[in-house]
Amino acid sequence: MTLVDDTRALQRVLRKTDVAALPLDDAENLADRLREVVRAHARRYYVQDAPVISDAEYDQLFQALQQLEAAHPSLRHPDSPTHRVGGEPLDRFEKVRHREPMLSLSNAFDADDVRAWYDRCLRGLADRLDEGERPAVTVELKIDGVAVAVTYEEGRMRVAATRGDGEVGENVTRNVRTIHSIPLRLPARATDDAPMVPERLEVRGEVYMRESEFDALNARLGEAEEKLFANPRNAAAGSLRQLDPSVTAQRPLRFFAYGIGPTTGSLPSSQFEQLQWLRRLGLPVNDHVERFDDIEAVIAFCEHWTAHRDDTAGEWALDYEIDGVVLKIDDLAFQDALGAISNAPRWAVAYKFPAREATTRLNDIFINVGRTGAVKPEAALEPVEIGGVTVSQATLHNEDYILQRDIRIGDTVVVKRAGDVIPQVIKPVVEARTGDEQPWAMPAHCPCSVHSELVRLPEEADYYCVDAECPTQFKRLLEHFASRGAMDIEGLGEKLARALPEAGLVEHLPDLYRLTEDDLVHLDGFAEKRAQNLLAAIDASRSRPLSRLLFGLGIRHVGQDAAERIVGAFASLAALAEATVEDLEAIDGIGPITAESVVDWFRLEDNRHIVEQLRDLGVNTERTEAETPPAPEEAPSAVLDKTFVLTGSLPSMTRSEAKRRIKQAGGTVTSSVSGNTDYLVAGENPGSKFDDAQERGIPILSEDDLLALLDA
Ligand code: NAD
Repeated sequence: MTLVDDTRALQRVLRKTDVAALPLDDAENLADRLREVVRAHARRYYVQDAPVISDAEYDQLFQALQQLEAAHPSLRHPDSPTHRVGGEPLDRFEKVRHREPMLSLSNAFDADDVRAWYDRCLRGLADRLDEGERPAVTVELKIDGVAVAVTYEEGRMRVAATRGDGEVGENVTRNVRTIHSIPLRLPARATDDAPMVPERLEVRGEVYMRESEFDALNARLGEAEEKLFANPRNAAAGSLRQLDPSVTAQRPLRFFAYGIGPTTGSLPSSQFEQLQWLRRLGLPVNDHVERFDDIEAVIAFCEHWTAHRDDTAGEWALDYEIDGVVLKIDDLAFQDALGAISNAPRWAVAYKFPAREATTRLNDIFINVGRTGAVKPEAALEPVEIGGVTVSQATLHNEDYILQRDIRIGDTVVVKRAGDVIPQVIKPVVEARTGDEQPWAMPAHCPCSVHSELVRLPEEADYYCVDAECPTQFKRLLEHFASRGAMDIEGLGEKLARALPEAGLVEHLPDLYRLTEDDLVHLDGFAEKRAQNLLAAIDASRSRPLSRLLFGLGIRHVGQDAAERIVGAFASLAALAEATVEDLEAIDGIGPITAESVVDWFRLEDNRHIVEQLRDLGVNTERTEAETPPAPEEAPSAVLDKTFVLTGSLPSMTRSEAKRRIKQAGGTVTSSVSGNTDYLVAGENPGSKFDDAQERGIPILSEDDLLALLDA
């Protein structure tokens, strides 16, 4: 049996068993099996950087073992994985013995676990606390990376070591020196009046990789036909433990300091203040740190980040993965009093987010036709629960994605479901292969009734069904046309977008505006009232702004933003129909691919005819006043052609309002700081973009500064 088979067998047992209630013999048997499997997974994860199950699946096995050991003290073994930290250090690195062990953290999985942890701390501190006194808790994001301890002597970096087994780590100094965000030298003091930096200072923190940089790294590795990393954590661990520091230097590693190890001299006496002190020394410290006196506020913080950890835009968006929130009793004297158990401090706990990855079997790959005719491979999965939702389908993106990862039908695969994003297959678990897995190839024909040929255009990742009559494609287009960002036709969703063409009522977009009540009442589930509501919604869509119509037409590469930009330059669809590629390319933000795609679309007689019919049926094909840009001479020069990034909440404007005003004045707003950024506009609680901008010396504006620029 392979490790994965063993694991699956154990998972089946655990699903059916109340482990705490097992009689001793059975408990012993199960504990032995669990120990072996947990040990094997820990080795794969910590030593080989190649896990074969998700973290949540590992945590579940680990917890079951803890429960068995708690229920039957005779099963407790000093060498059980529940008493250990991490994995043994690799022999290929010199070993470093930590002056004080680098521990793991105990876990909390819900609010009750957090309250129970705090109650234990209160009991442990009973003789030190005044009546009713509640020790403060500092809360930090739990960065999903690799722990390292960096020791400075006389302000210079001397040794950097991984956590290893907690007692002995690997000497990765040469690699850590290549990480730009970790200073090689510290200033003599944090501020003018602060005490001198101690002679020996050990900074502990997490080496991690940003998601965007991880994606770019994997893309580079894919092009070079090298092995891809499963996630940013594995990429960070693998890059940090390279024997050749010049390889590490090419990897986009970053660092957040979260604590101080054994150090000479005096330091601030609370966790919160130590973090501020580290920041003043020039060490990167995460922005999202808070201190609370009330455990319910701590829980609210954990719940807030559970809800926002996958945000990709807006004030809480993070560009790095977090797997929980770390809670620490703030006062260092209290921490000392509470002490540690074998592998974790009592004064801290990790609140773990619900799972978002799982492993399961890929039963089949089928293809899905989109509104522009793009054909996407999708995975049919053995249903698996991820964070409380059963997932049976996931995207596989495109042909290259599957081939680069060598994903085969029958594979055990890692599936990720994050936020509102469609679940995706991340990678196969190659170690779980039996030899029966089947490689996949893109079919030659569209699965629709027309069976048209599928073609892959040069420079594009997707295949397309190029037949305009493809019925599947048209259903998707209709759904898109009616969607909220486009013509916003309430009541016309996926089901109806299928039913209307199937009933022969809508075969081209203009047919929508010819529908009558009589047509609709013959459809399944359509009473008079529903038919009238739908017709009213269709009628209301006639007056939508032109950019919405343009977006709704489903022209390849024309998203909402491109549609708005194009409409800014052309007053009507009739005018756009005559545009050349050069005219379109002259629009700020429109590149050659989009320009060509628009011109190609209007070149087709059928498409021109659709536009004419829509106009004749009373659909607005002219630019509205709100869409008309101010004459260029009115645009204030201070903002024109400048690129802005927004972070934090502004005192009086919403971010989208600020964005709209900047755009109106001829500026551009992008979501991340880069070499092209001219200004960062920062409100309250700015994110990591603030540090980025500071690092790059980009001017930082308040809302007032921005308003002044806009009025200039
Ligand atoms: P942990 O990662 O749960 O917690 C301890 C670590 O948290 C510290 O060592 C530190 O590196 C990190 N951390 C991040 N931000 C921090 C902060 N602000 N303050 C303090 N520490 C912070 O414990 P662990 O023992 O390192 O590993 C357990 C984790 O590894 C679990 O998530 C587990 O699922 C995963 N794991 C997975 C597998 C697998 O097969 N998939 C195997 C073993 C372990």
